[in-house]
Amino acid sequence: MSVTDVNDEFGRPLKDLRISVTDRCNFRCRYCMPRERFNEDHTFLPKRAFLSFDEIEKVVRSTISLGLEKVRITGGEPLLRKNLPELISKLSKLDIDIALTTNASLLKKNAKDLRLAGLNRVTISLDALDPELHKQMSDSNISVDSILEGIDEAVRVGLSPVKINCVVQKGVNEEEVSKLVHYFRGTGIVVRFIEYMDVGRTNGWQLGQVVPSENVLNHLQKEFDLVPVEPTNNSDVAVRWAHSDGSGEIGFISSVTSPFCGDCVRARLSADGRLVTCLFASGGHDIRALIHNGADEEILQKAIAAIWTRRKDRYSEIRSEDTAALPRIEMSYIGG
Ligand code: SAM
Ligand code: SF4
Ligand code: SF4
Repeated sequence: MSVTDVNDEFGRPLKDLRISVTDRCNFRCRYCMPRERFNEDHTFLPKRAFLSFDEIEKVVRSTISLGLEKVRITGGEPLLRKNLPELISKLSKLDIDIALTTNASLLKKNAKDLRLAGLNRVTISLDALDPELHKQMSDSNISVDSILEGIDEAVRVGLSPVKINCVVQKGVNEEEVSKLVHYFRGTGIVVRFIEYMDVGRTNGWQLGQVVPSENVLNHLQKEFDLVPVEPTNNSDVAVRWAHSDGSGEIGFISSVTSPFCGDCVRARLSADGRLVTCLFASGGHDIRALIHNGADEEILQKAIAAIWTRRKDRYSEIRSEDTAALPRIEMSYIGG
Protein backbone atom coordinates (compact mmCIF):
# COMPACT_ATOMS: atom_id res chain seq x y z
CA MET A 1 0.00 0.00 0.00
CA SER A 2 1.49 3.39 -0.90
CA VAL A 3 1.93 6.03 1.80
CA THR A 4 -0.41 9.04 1.62
CA ASP A 5 0.02 11.43 4.56
CA VAL A 6 -3.23 12.72 6.09
CA ASN A 7 -3.61 16.04 7.85
CA ASP A 8 -6.34 17.04 10.28
CA GLU A 9 -8.32 20.31 10.18
CA PHE A 10 -5.33 22.17 11.65
CA GLY A 11 -2.79 20.62 9.27
CA ARG A 12 -1.42 18.13 11.84
CA PRO A 13 -0.27 14.80 10.38
CA LEU A 14 -0.88 11.41 12.02
CA LYS A 15 2.56 10.18 13.09
CA ASP A 16 2.15 8.50 16.45
CA LEU A 17 -0.28 5.80 17.63
CA ARG A 18 -0.62 4.83 21.31
CA ILE A 19 -2.04 1.37 21.61
CA SER A 20 -3.66 0.32 24.87
CA VAL A 21 -3.55 -3.48 25.19
CA THR A 22 -5.53 -3.69 28.44
CA ASP A 23 -7.49 -1.39 30.73
CA ARG A 24 -6.42 -3.38 33.82
CA CYS A 25 -3.58 -2.51 36.15
CA ASN A 26 -1.86 -3.93 39.22
CA PHE A 27 -1.34 -0.37 40.57
CA ARG A 28 -3.98 2.06 41.71
CA CYS A 29 -2.15 5.38 41.26
CA ARG A 30 -4.53 7.91 42.76
CA TYR A 31 -4.21 10.31 39.83
CA CYS A 32 -5.17 7.60 37.35
CA MET A 33 -7.18 4.74 38.91
CA PRO A 34 -8.24 5.75 42.43
CA ARG A 35 -9.11 2.55 44.28
CA GLU A 36 -12.50 3.72 45.48
CA ARG A 37 -13.58 4.05 41.82
CA PHE A 38 -11.58 1.17 40.32
CA ASN A 39 -12.73 -1.52 42.72
CA GLU A 40 -14.73 -4.75 42.45
CA ASP A 41 -17.74 -2.71 41.28
CA HIS A 42 -15.84 -1.30 38.33
CA THR A 43 -16.56 -3.03 35.02
CA PHE A 44 -13.33 -3.58 33.13
CA LEU A 45 -13.49 -4.48 29.46
CA PRO A 46 -14.24 -8.16 28.97
CA LYS A 47 -11.13 -9.83 27.55
CA ARG A 48 -13.13 -11.11 24.59
CA ALA A 49 -13.57 -7.46 23.56
CA PHE A 50 -9.82 -6.89 23.25
CA LEU A 51 -8.43 -6.51 19.76
CA SER A 52 -6.34 -9.57 18.95
CA PHE A 53 -2.67 -9.06 18.08
CA ASP A 54 -3.48 -9.74 14.41
CA GLU A 55 -6.17 -7.08 14.52
CA ILE A 56 -3.81 -4.56 16.13
CA GLU A 57 -1.23 -5.33 13.46
CA LYS A 58 -3.86 -4.74 10.78
CA VAL A 59 -4.73 -1.31 12.22
CA VAL A 60 -1.04 -0.39 12.43
CA ARG A 61 -0.39 -1.49 8.85
CA SER A 62 -3.32 0.59 7.62
CA THR A 63 -2.10 3.61 9.59
CA ILE A 64 1.48 3.29 8.34
CA SER A 65 0.04 3.85 4.89
CA LEU A 66 -1.20 7.22 6.25
CA GLY A 67 2.28 8.28 7.38
CA LEU A 68 2.48 6.73 10.86
CA GLU A 69 6.06 6.53 12.21
CA LYS A 70 5.80 5.40 15.85
CA VAL A 71 3.71 3.18 18.03
CA ARG A 72 3.71 3.08 21.82
CA ILE A 73 2.24 0.12 23.65
CA THR A 74 0.46 1.18 26.83
CA GLY A 75 -2.54 0.45 29.05
CA GLY A 76 -3.61 0.04 31.90
CA GLU A 77 -0.48 -1.92 32.59
CA PRO A 78 0.58 -3.37 29.22
CA LEU A 79 2.73 -6.11 30.76
CA LEU A 80 -0.44 -7.67 32.20
CA ARG A 81 -1.47 -8.58 28.65
CA LYS A 82 -0.55 -12.20 28.00
CA ASN A 83 2.18 -12.94 25.46
CA LEU A 84 2.89 -9.27 24.75
CA PRO A 85 6.22 -10.08 23.01
CA GLU A 86 4.14 -11.79 20.28
CA LEU A 87 2.55 -8.45 19.45
CA ILE A 88 5.92 -6.69 19.51
CA SER A 89 7.29 -9.33 17.20
CA LYS A 90 4.47 -8.80 14.68
CA LEU A 91 4.90 -5.01 14.79
CA SER A 92 8.67 -5.21 14.52
CA LYS A 93 8.30 -6.59 11.00
CA LEU A 94 6.73 -3.28 9.97
CA ASP A 95 8.82 -0.20 9.29
CA ILE A 96 8.04 1.56 12.55
CA ASP A 97 9.57 2.64 15.87
CA ILE A 98 8.11 0.65 18.80
CA ALA A 99 8.10 1.91 22.39
CA LEU A 100 6.40 0.76 25.59
CA THR A 101 5.17 2.64 28.66
CA THR A 102 5.04 0.57 31.84
CA ASN A 103 4.99 0.82 35.61
CA ALA A 104 7.93 -1.66 35.44
CA SER A 105 6.54 -3.98 38.12
CA LEU A 106 6.83 -6.88 35.65
CA LEU A 107 9.71 -5.55 33.59
CA LYS A 108 12.55 -7.49 35.16
CA LYS A 109 11.18 -10.79 33.95
CA ASN A 110 9.91 -9.48 30.59
CA ALA A 111 12.58 -7.04 29.38
CA LYS A 112 14.72 -9.59 27.58
CA ASP A 113 11.83 -11.21 25.69
CA LEU A 114 10.49 -7.81 24.72
CA ARG A 115 13.89 -6.74 23.42
CA LEU A 116 14.36 -9.99 21.50
CA ALA A 117 10.91 -9.53 20.00
CA GLY A 118 12.00 -6.15 18.62
CA LEU A 119 10.95 -3.54 21.19
CA ASN A 120 13.14 -0.45 20.73
CA ARG A 121 12.52 1.77 23.75
CA VAL A 122 10.83 1.85 27.10
CA THR A 123 9.39 4.60 29.30
CA ILE A 124 8.93 3.79 32.96
CA SER A 125 6.60 5.61 35.30
CA LEU A 126 8.19 6.31 38.66
CA ASP A 127 6.85 9.07 40.88
CA ALA A 128 8.92 8.50 44.01
CA LEU A 129 12.12 6.82 45.18
CA ASP A 130 10.99 6.94 48.78
CA PRO A 131 9.55 3.45 49.44
CA GLU A 132 6.64 4.62 51.61
CA LEU A 133 5.65 7.41 49.26
CA HIS A 134 5.86 5.10 46.26
CA LYS A 135 3.60 2.66 48.03
CA GLN A 136 1.16 5.41 48.84
CA MET A 137 1.16 6.95 45.34
CA SER A 138 0.84 3.66 43.49
CA ASP A 139 -1.48 2.24 46.17
CA SER A 140 0.26 -1.11 45.74
CA ASN A 141 2.68 -3.34 47.61
CA ILE A 142 5.16 -3.50 44.76
CA SER A 143 8.48 -2.21 46.01
CA VAL A 144 10.55 0.60 44.54
CA ASP A 145 13.47 -1.85 44.51
CA SER A 146 11.66 -4.16 42.13
CA ILE A 147 10.94 -1.20 39.82
CA LEU A 148 14.61 -0.19 39.93
CA GLU A 149 15.60 -3.78 39.12
CA GLY A 150 13.24 -3.64 36.13
CA ILE A 151 14.93 -0.43 34.99
CA ASP A 152 18.40 -2.01 35.34
CA GLU A 153 17.28 -4.99 33.33
CA ALA A 154 15.84 -2.76 30.59
CA VAL A 155 19.22 -1.01 30.32
CA ARG A 156 21.09 -4.32 30.41
CA VAL A 157 19.13 -5.83 27.51
CA GLY A 158 19.57 -2.67 25.41
CA LEU A 159 16.11 -1.09 25.50
CA SER A 160 17.46 2.33 24.76
CA PRO A 161 16.95 5.08 25.57
CA VAL A 162 15.19 4.33 28.86
CA LYS A 163 13.10 7.26 30.03
CA ILE A 164 11.44 7.83 33.38
CA ASN A 165 8.13 9.69 33.70
CA CYS A 166 7.33 11.35 37.01
CA VAL A 167 3.99 13.08 37.56
CA VAL A 168 4.58 15.88 40.06
CA GLN A 169 1.77 16.73 42.46
CA LYS A 170 1.76 19.64 44.87
CA GLY A 171 2.28 18.59 48.45
CA VAL A 172 2.73 14.94 47.44
CA ASN A 173 6.06 14.23 45.71
CA GLU A 174 7.77 17.57 45.10
CA GLU A 175 10.62 16.44 47.37
CA GLU A 176 11.26 13.47 45.07
CA VAL A 177 12.12 15.61 42.06
CA SER A 178 15.72 16.35 42.95
CA LYS A 179 16.25 12.83 44.35
CA LEU A 180 15.26 11.41 40.97
CA VAL A 181 17.61 13.76 39.13
CA HIS A 182 20.48 12.78 41.44
CA TYR A 183 19.74 9.08 41.16
CA PHE A 184 19.63 8.93 37.35
CA ARG A 185 22.35 11.52 36.61
CA GLY A 186 25.20 9.92 34.69
CA THR A 187 23.23 6.78 33.80
CA GLY A 188 22.02 7.84 30.34
CA ILE A 189 18.44 7.59 31.64
CA VAL A 190 16.34 10.71 31.07
CA VAL A 191 13.86 11.72 33.78
CA ARG A 192 10.85 13.72 32.58
CA PHE A 193 8.61 15.66 34.93
CA ILE A 194 4.97 15.74 33.91
CA GLU A 195 2.34 18.19 35.07
CA TYR A 196 -0.60 16.49 36.73
CA MET A 197 -3.44 16.52 34.18
CA ASP A 198 -7.22 16.59 34.36
CA VAL A 199 -7.56 13.35 32.37
CA GLY A 200 -10.69 11.31 33.03
CA ARG A 201 -13.34 12.16 35.60
CA THR A 202 -12.37 10.06 38.59
CA ASN A 203 -9.20 11.59 40.05
CA GLY A 204 -10.78 14.77 41.43
CA TRP A 205 -8.14 16.92 39.70
CA GLN A 206 -7.81 20.51 40.82
CA LEU A 207 -5.60 23.17 39.28
CA GLY A 208 -4.10 23.85 42.72
CA GLN A 209 -2.56 20.34 42.71
CA VAL A 210 -0.50 21.07 39.59
CA VAL A 211 3.13 22.05 40.02
CA PRO A 212 4.02 24.16 36.96
CA SER A 213 7.14 22.85 35.20
CA GLU A 214 8.65 26.29 35.55
CA ASN A 215 8.59 25.92 39.35
CA VAL A 216 10.17 22.46 39.12
CA LEU A 217 12.90 23.82 36.86
CA ASN A 218 13.55 26.83 39.13
CA HIS A 219 13.85 24.51 42.08
CA LEU A 220 16.28 22.20 40.24
CA GLN A 221 18.38 25.09 38.98
CA LYS A 222 19.27 25.94 42.58
CA GLU A 223 20.94 22.55 42.85
CA PHE A 224 22.10 21.67 39.33
CA ASP A 225 23.74 23.65 36.55
CA LEU A 226 21.26 23.07 33.71
CA VAL A 227 21.37 24.33 30.14
CA PRO A 228 18.52 24.22 27.58
CA VAL A 229 18.70 21.68 24.75
CA GLU A 230 17.34 22.56 21.30
CA PRO A 231 14.34 20.41 20.33
CA THR A 232 15.10 17.90 17.60
CA ASN A 233 11.57 17.65 16.28
CA ASN A 234 8.30 19.57 16.67
CA SER A 235 6.29 16.64 17.95
CA ASP A 236 8.67 16.12 20.89
CA VAL A 237 6.37 17.05 23.77
CA ALA A 238 9.16 17.34 26.34
CA VAL A 239 11.18 20.52 26.77
CA ARG A 240 14.73 19.32 27.32
CA TRP A 241 17.47 20.53 29.66
CA ALA A 242 20.92 19.05 30.22
CA HIS A 243 23.51 19.04 32.99
CA SER A 244 26.21 21.46 31.81
CA ASP A 245 28.93 18.88 32.53
CA GLY A 246 27.38 16.43 30.04
CA SER A 247 26.17 14.02 32.72
CA GLY A 248 22.68 13.72 31.29
CA GLU A 249 19.35 15.26 30.40
CA ILE A 250 16.01 15.92 32.01
CA GLY A 251 12.69 16.91 30.42
CA PHE A 252 9.46 18.70 31.22
CA ILE A 253 6.03 17.89 29.85
CA SER A 254 3.85 20.87 30.58
CA SER A 255 0.45 19.97 29.17
CA VAL A 256 -1.36 22.25 31.61
CA THR A 257 0.76 25.42 31.71
CA SER A 258 2.16 25.21 28.19
CA PRO A 259 -0.11 23.09 25.96
CA PHE A 260 1.30 21.62 22.79
CA CYS A 261 -1.91 20.82 20.86
CA GLY A 262 -0.57 22.71 17.83
CA ASP A 263 2.00 19.95 17.30
CA CYS A 264 -0.12 17.01 18.46
CA VAL A 265 0.28 14.19 15.94
CA ARG A 266 -1.05 11.39 18.19
CA ALA A 267 -3.98 9.06 17.98
CA ARG A 268 -4.90 6.45 20.57
CA LEU A 269 -6.35 3.00 20.14
CA SER A 270 -8.18 1.51 23.13
CA ALA A 271 -7.87 -2.16 24.00
CA ASP A 272 -11.35 -2.73 22.54
CA GLY A 273 -10.46 -1.04 19.27
CA ARG A 274 -11.77 2.50 19.55
CA LEU A 275 -9.72 5.15 17.83
CA VAL A 276 -9.49 8.25 20.00
CA THR A 277 -8.10 11.49 18.61
CA CYS A 278 -7.43 13.34 21.90
CA LEU A 279 -6.49 12.35 25.45
CA PHE A 280 -9.45 14.40 26.63
CA ALA A 281 -12.01 13.03 24.17
CA SER A 282 -15.38 11.86 25.40
CA GLY A 283 -15.46 8.87 23.07
CA GLY A 284 -13.80 7.03 20.23
CA HIS A 285 -14.52 5.58 16.80
CA ASP A 286 -15.28 1.87 16.65
CA ILE A 287 -12.54 0.35 14.49
CA ARG A 288 -13.11 -3.13 15.91
CA ALA A 289 -16.64 -3.18 14.47
CA LEU A 290 -15.20 -2.38 11.05
CA ILE A 291 -12.68 -5.21 11.35
CA HIS A 292 -15.35 -7.64 12.50
CA ASN A 293 -17.47 -6.61 9.53
CA GLY A 294 -14.65 -7.73 7.28
CA ALA A 295 -12.85 -4.45 6.52
CA ASP A 296 -9.54 -5.04 4.76
CA GLU A 297 -6.50 -2.75 5.18
CA GLU A 298 -7.64 -0.44 2.40
CA ILE A 299 -11.05 0.10 3.96
CA LEU A 300 -9.44 0.65 7.37
CA GLN A 301 -7.00 3.12 5.88
CA LYS A 302 -9.89 5.12 4.38
CA ALA A 303 -11.90 4.99 7.61
CA ILE A 304 -8.95 6.16 9.74
CA ALA A 305 -8.11 8.88 7.22
CA ALA A 306 -11.71 10.10 7.32
CA ILE A 307 -11.64 10.26 11.14
CA TRP A 308 -8.29 12.06 11.18
CA THR A 309 -9.11 14.65 8.53
CA ARG A 310 -12.15 15.75 10.60
CA ARG A 311 -10.08 16.12 13.78
CA LYS A 312 -10.26 19.50 15.52
CA ASP A 313 -9.12 18.54 19.04
CA ARG A 314 -7.13 21.02 21.10
CA TYR A 315 -8.47 20.48 24.60
CA SER A 316 -5.44 21.68 26.54
CA GLU A 317 -5.36 24.95 24.64
CA ILE A 318 -9.01 25.72 25.32
CA ARG A 319 -9.24 24.28 28.86
CA SER A 320 -11.92 26.19 30.80
CA GLU A 321 -14.75 25.60 33.24
CA ASP A 322 -16.96 24.70 30.26
CA THR A 323 -14.58 22.08 28.86
CA ALA A 324 -14.00 20.72 32.38
CA ALA A 325 -17.69 19.82 32.60
CA LEU A 326 -17.57 17.61 29.48
CA PRO A 327 -17.37 13.82 29.81
CA ARG A 328 -13.84 12.42 29.37
CA ILE A 329 -12.42 8.96 28.79
CA GLU A 330 -10.29 7.55 31.64
CA MET A 331 -6.51 7.46 31.15
CA SER A 332 -6.37 3.75 31.99
CA TYR A 333 -8.70 3.07 29.03
CA ILE A 334 -6.63 4.83 26.39
CA GLY A 335 -3.15 4.95 27.89
CA GLY A 336 -0.92 7.96 28.45
N1 SAM B 1 0.64 1.66 33.43
C1 SAM B 1 1.62 2.22 32.59
C2 SAM B 1 2.42 3.26 33.33
O1 SAM B 1 1.98 3.74 34.37
O2 SAM B 1 3.50 3.58 32.82
C3 SAM B 1 1.09 2.78 31.28
C4 SAM B 1 -0.22 3.50 31.32
S1 SAM B 1 -0.23 5.01 32.27
C5 SAM B 1 -1.91 5.53 32.03
C6 SAM B 1 0.72 6.06 31.22
C7 SAM B 1 1.24 7.33 31.84
O3 SAM B 1 0.18 8.18 32.18
C8 SAM B 1 2.05 7.14 33.12
O4 SAM B 1 3.34 7.68 32.95
C9 SAM B 1 1.27 7.94 34.15
O5 SAM B 1 2.11 8.52 35.10
C10 SAM B 1 0.56 8.95 33.30
N2 SAM B 1 -0.64 9.50 33.93
C11 SAM B 1 -1.71 8.83 34.38
N3 SAM B 1 -2.62 9.70 34.90
C12 SAM B 1 -2.08 10.95 34.77
C13 SAM B 1 -2.52 12.25 35.10
N4 SAM B 1 -3.70 12.46 35.68
N5 SAM B 1 -1.71 13.28 34.81
C14 SAM B 1 -0.51 13.09 34.22
N6 SAM B 1 -0.05 11.89 33.85
C15 SAM B 1 -0.82 10.82 34.14
FE1 SF4 C 1 -1.71 1.80 36.43
FE2 SF4 C 1 -0.15 3.32 34.95
FE3 SF4 C 1 -2.53 4.24 35.79
FE4 SF4 C 1 -0.61 3.89 37.57
S1 SF4 C 1 -0.58 5.32 35.84
S2 SF4 C 1 -2.73 3.20 37.77
S3 SF4 C 1 0.47 2.16 36.76
S4 SF4 C 1 -2.21 2.57 34.39
FE1 SF4 D 1 -3.24 16.39 21.71
FE2 SF4 D 1 -5.63 16.58 22.87
FE3 SF4 D 1 -3.41 16.65 24.35
FE4 SF4 D 1 -4.04 18.72 22.78
S1 SF4 D 1 -5.18 18.00 24.52
S2 SF4 D 1 -2.02 17.75 22.99
S3 SF4 D 1 -4.97 17.64 21.03
S4 SF4 D 1 -4.12 14.91 23.12
